[in-house]
Amino acid sequence: MNKRGFAYLKSLGLVSLGLVTSVAEAKEPARNPNIVLIFADDLGYGDLGCFGASQYQTPHLDQLAARGMKFTHFYVSQAVCSASRAALMTGCYANRVGISGALNPFAETGLNPDEETIAEVLKKKDYRTIAIGKWHLGHHPQFLPTSQGFDEYLGIPYSNDMWPLTYDNVRATPQTNVRKASFPELPLLENTQKIDEFRTIADQEKITTLYTEKAVRFIHDNQNSPFFLYLAHSMPHVPLAVSEKFKGKSNQGLYGDVLMEIDWSVGEIVAALEQCGLTENTLVIFTSDNGPWLNFGNHAGSAGGLRQGKGTSFEGGQRVPCIMAFPGTIPAGTVCSNIASTIDLLPTFAALAGAPLPSRKIDGISILPLLAGNFSANPRNEFYYYYRQNSLEAVRKGDWKLVFPHPGRNYEGFAPGQNGLGGKVNDQFNFEGGLYDLRRDPGERYNLQPFYPEIVAELEKVARQAREDLGDDLTGNPGKNRRKPGSLN
Ligand code: MG
Repeated sequence: MNKRGFAYLKSLGLVSLGLVTSVAEAKEPARNPNIVLIFADDLGYGDLGCFGASQYQTPHLDQLAARGMKFTHFYVSQAVCSASRAALMTGCYANRVGISGALNPFAETGLNPDEETIAEVLKKKDYRTIAIGKWHLGHHPQFLPTSQGFDEYLGIPYSNDMWPLTYDNVRATPQTNVRKASFPELPLLENTQKIDEFRTIADQEKITTLYTEKAVRFIHDNQNSPFFLYLAHSMPHVPLAVSEKFKGKSNQGLYGDVLMEIDWSVGEIVAALEQCGLTENTLVIFTSDNGPWLNFGNHAGSAGGLRQGKGTSFEGGQRVPCIMAFPGTIPAGTVCSNIASTIDLLPTFAALAGAPLPSRKIDGISILPLLAGNFSANPRNEFYYYYRQNSLEAVRKGDWKLVFPHPGRNYEGFAPGQNGLGGKVNDQFNFEGGLYDLRRDPGERYNLQPFYPEIVAELEKVARQAREDLGDDLTGNPGKNRRKPGSLN
């Protein structure tokens, strides 16, 4: 462990005093660590080499995992873009801060500026902050990153399919797709100003490179100050697009090519940190906003054997690959199978930076003990799976997951689409409830509910706490502690 990493852990009480005296004290106070958070869109649990991808390589991500820690039970708050991002940014379950689903170009709501974001927390410790890529927490100026703690923003305000083209990349007309035909051109924003627009799929081919170049520039420009770089890739959300340098390079068509370019992007960022001498003072995290959009067939990723995908509260929707590297602090080549979530990142970053937590109630818990390799600490042993507006569809405690009967998306029973076109799904399938042991049954196939009434009772208790606090549409409970989203009106 290097001095800086050691100093963090020491200041956090994670290193015993006996050990402290055996290591030379760092003379100057450790500079707060930089944080680089890379967030992919609709990238599934099985989509990285080190998580099982087989038709392309992701050497930079695999190397990042080898230098750091792989999280195998890492969750997003909801398996859909805006809700997932609201939770990431605030450390709250998305329904606590009133964001559900995916905001469209006509949305009049956004992340409430009264909520404290990761960027606002880190600003209290003088971090330089930038958001690059897909924001999707409201496209009106008062909801954009520059109103939510970020010094700078470059990216698209919502999903890359919210444009006037149908999924065959042809311009929509009121006859072919009335909804799409009504969408404005997909804008590229710099701070709050539109500086360009993506009008064709060829325009989108430059998007991953554009974001990466901006990220690398930001690292070089801010190497002398602690910084928070949030890079939310638009890919591999459909419509897929990749630059010339990766076209046809994978054995898995365009999807694999796109993943290779995202991996390249990670490599560029890691190299920039190295060039600036910041590797050991930077926490790098790579994860995804939700699981694969499976009805897009060969343009969708893989849930790696987990059940269902995006838009569901099954593991394939909410469990995502996650890698964290912080040489000298996170032990290299480790695997963490404890439960952790994107909502835990805000309090973890606050603890690393020595910044106070938001004054409003949050749901995240610092997972610094896990980053230090102390897996017996287990800071989070429970998780609530909400979906739709406010439906508590499942709860987890330890290895056990109790799924409640609920209507939801089912990908089974339909042929997936091909080459960009989406196949059918059933969004009103009535799932039966069940009790699943995620240790021996990560695919949620074998309902053990009749055999373990005492475990069901324990999980029901967790669900009652959730319902009292956050409510539950499935049982008609409004909840006590939900807050409103930001609104134009
Ligand atoms: Mg997504």
